[in-house]
Amino acid sequence: MNLVLFGPPGAGKGTQAQSVCQNYGLGHLATGNLFRTHISNETPLGLRVKSILDSGELVPDSIVLDMVKEEIQKDDFKNGVVFDGFPRTVAQAEGLEEVLLNMGLTIDAFIMLDVPEEMLVQRLLSRGEGRSDDTEEKITHRLEVYRKETSPVKGYYEANGHVYSILGTGSIDEVYSRIQSVLDSLRK
Ligand code: AMP
Repeated sequence: MNLVLFGPPGAGKGTQAQSVCQNYGLGHLATGNLFRTHISNETPLGLRVKSILDSGELVPDSIVLDMVKEEIQKDDFKNGVVFDGFPRTVAQAEGLEEVLLNMGLTIDAFIMLDVPEEMLVQRLLSRGEGRSDDTEEKITHRLEVYRKETSPVKGYYEANGHVYSILGTGSIDEVYSRIQSVLDSLRK
């Protein structure tokens, strides 16, 4: 099973992706986490993308897709993948489709976490992960980038079916059980 867990910054994608991966035996492919690891290890890729992450802009599609293509070959993903924070543009969604097609795979479900915008800002400001892009100004910018560049990705998947919108408010467990209902209905 291959899933895209989608939604704005602060929707809870990372937290939910971890639970889904644990309970369904899938690999967690979070492009933001991969970039942050490159940055802290000061790899050439990390040095290249650091200022982009700091500004809240998107890393160019070709860089993201090259990283995903390499990552997805790893054994962690052989039983399926939860994509978190990717695809973030329609071009990335098209690129992903091609990568998966070459591997004989497809996206089984696109799960959208819906959270009202006021709540997103509050969640991001209070999550306390010490991220350099979690200041109020940068959060506002990331939400703008999401609206302009990322939200059209939903339309891309709607055109192919398989889109499930889930309310992302309430406790972590409540949101997880909504996701679980969708995934269990897919397996029947
Ligand atoms: P995240 O951890 O998903 O909030 O991502 C943090 C930052 O990493 C974003 O604000 C972007 O600068 C960069 N990033 C992560 N994933 C992508 C992606 N799929 N495409 C472009 N930039 C990304």
